[in-house]
Amino acid sequence: MDALRQLQDALLTNQSHRLFVTRSVLCATFSGVCTLIHRKKSSEIEHIAASCEIVFAVQQKLEALIAPGVSTLELDQVAETEIRALGAVPAFKGYHGFPYSICASVNAAIVHGFPDETPLQKGDIVSIDVGACLDGYYGDGAFTVAVGAISAQAQHLINGTLDCLARGIDQARPGGRLSDISHAIQRHAESQGLAVVREYGGHGIGRELHESPYIENYGSPGKGPLLKPGHVFCIEPILCLGNPQIDHFDDWTTLTSDRSLAAHAEHTVAITEDGPRILTLPAVPA
Ligand code: MG
Repeated sequence: MDALRQLQDALLTNQSHRLFVTRSVLCATFSGVCTLIHRKKSSEIEHIAASCEIVFAVQQKLEALIAPGVSTLELDQVAETEIRALGAVPAFKGYHGFPYSICASVNAAIVHGFPDETPLQKGDIVSIDVGACLDGYYGDGAFTVAVGAISAQAQHLINGTLDCLARGIDQARPGGRLSDISHAIQRHAESQGLAVVREYGGHGIGRELHESPYIENYGSPGKGPLLKPGHVFCIEPILCLGNPQIDHFDDWTTLTSDRSLAAHAEHTVAITEDGPRILTLPAVPA
């Protein structure tokens, strides 16, 4: 685990898109250098779930506020206030120097966008990523929504990204392999005419915001570590309508190279004996 941490730290420190563990870590993971995935005890999962409840509550609040004329900087301030009011700490703020409490990525911005004062406009789509840390455990989730009326293509992208997330989550079951999640996401994305942005993927989570394994959003099924109860993963398809090549806009933000729209959806998910339990959604009464 120490070797993994050192590898991740080295990569995260030296790469410009640092909120997500990158492909290099993945290659190390699948090549067997670091395949140890921490299995959480049920008490730990409840701690993560408590952080995820805060993430969900903040997301609900932000989603209700998103409208033409609202700036993402206002959303960031609401998010920070709310996370702290609920007793947690914004997980992203200060993470490898990230200066805000949320990532806000508008239109062609893929991930890690800085909130700013630009008012959202009717027809935009905006991805909001929220992370919270409560009592030393992290929760992480993202969603993409329309600002007012949007094009049919933009809605197709948002819906397709959510469907990919659902299909990826459905593979998070004991006995499966890690790349079953990856494959389900890619297969559905491409069946819908959507492209996977390959530079980003999901990750383990717990006492660290980003833990092993890295979870690609593409690939063949049946590969990688066996999925087991106690694994807690952030599954997060990141798709676009056009060419999935990326441009670096600043140290953090990336844009699609053809400026086509991009969308991001993420849940924190615990693998249980009975299948996936989505921690960043309220529990459904039995
Ligand atoms: Mg994440």
